[in-house]
Amino acid sequence: MKERKLADRLSTMNESATLALNARVKQLAAEGTQVFNLTAGELADDTPEYIKSYVSDKLHLNKYTPVAGVSELRTRIADMAQKYYGLAWIKPDNVLVTAGAKPALYASFLALIDPGDEVIVPIPAWVSYNKLIELAGGKVVEVPLDENYDLDTAAIAEHITPKTKAILLNSPQNPTGAIYSKASLIKLADVLAGTNITIISDDIYSKLLYTDTFTPVPTVGFEHVVIISGFSKSQALTGWRIGYVIADSALIKGMTGIISHTMGNAAVPSQLAALAAMEKNDTPPQETLEKLKARRALVLKYLHGIKGLNFHIPEGAFYFFLDLRKITKDSTTWCETLLEKTGVALVPGEAFAAPGFARLTFVTDDKTLENALMRLKAFI
Ligand code: PLP
Repeated sequence: MKERKLADRLSTMNESATLALNARVKQLAAEGTQVFNLTAGELADDTPEYIKSYVSDKLHLNKYTPVAGVSELRTRIADMAQKYYGLAWIKPDNVLVTAGAKPALYASFLALIDPGDEVIVPIPAWVSYNKLIELAGGKVVEVPLDENYDLDTAAIAEHITPKTKAILLNSPQNPTGAIYSKASLIKLADVLAGTNITIISDDIYSKLLYTDTFTPVPTVGFEHVVIISGFSKSQALTGWRIGYVIADSALIKGMTGIISHTMGNAAVPSQLAALAAMEKNDTPPQETLEKLKARRALVLKYLHGIKGLNFHIPEGAFYFFLDLRKITKDSTTWCETLLEKTGVALVPGEAFAAPGFARLTFVTDDKTLENALMRLKAFI
């Protein structure tokens, strides 16, 4: 058979490290090993009954919808976002509903980036940003966050070039659970004043908070801002694949064109699920937040004070990012040994451009989490 040459873009494309690790965890469990999986990027909660029944009553709605989503959903998202951010310009026409936040990010990069344009990404950062930017032909410019995982505005300013098209911000962050301070955001807005650089604000965790002092990125006066969000994390709707992007109408028009030729409208049942979630409540249930708070406290109880182990106490999302640099130089091997010896699975920091760290998710039930923490503590 004649050998095929696959596209060059595959040379840097690999399966997301978290998904690959999850496969290894499942394999170990299938072989009978007791596994404590703290790698998930999603809440464990089932989809609430009111969402399931709302959707199942409407299965006759099964044709294409407008590419940008059904108007009722776009209107609800726009109303909610206008109030939440205090941004009067957000109208239904500024909302594009997508099949999860990933296509929302991808469409944003495709609509903004020409080949060779640069996007600044503060690190540590979520695994997929780099791939999405590179797939869109952009160049990733990684700039470390400061020691508290706040924005280092001076370092960002130093990395701005005539090719800088966008800066990707994510607060609360995956993988650290940290939020940016209002002061650093205001400083960055000052740095960017009068430029045409766009802030892409990934707000997917912005409703999962353990603090009263959170400043949403889009509220501090950036001139060009794109808001990415969705229902995956706060409403535990990951498998439904439903997210959205909010931007000025020129960008939304461009992105809608891109989505119309690639992914098409988000699946109808998923748009309905989002509508049901918004009708009832657009924040995570209080009960979910209370459970997460208690689990965050459980992690602190077990991991606080361990010699050589450092971490930031997360203000949002559901992750601890463990600083293992005093314990190991190679967090990938360390995580592999931890998994083989104790059954506890964490995601190595290499996946987030942060070797020497590991991400721990605290969404699992109390008993599993406590068991895992005891094993982790003993292993360290
Ligand atoms: N943004 C961040 C920071 C994430 O952690 C994730 C999922 O892990 C996403 C976006 C993607 O969300 P979705 O599953 O809705 O595509």
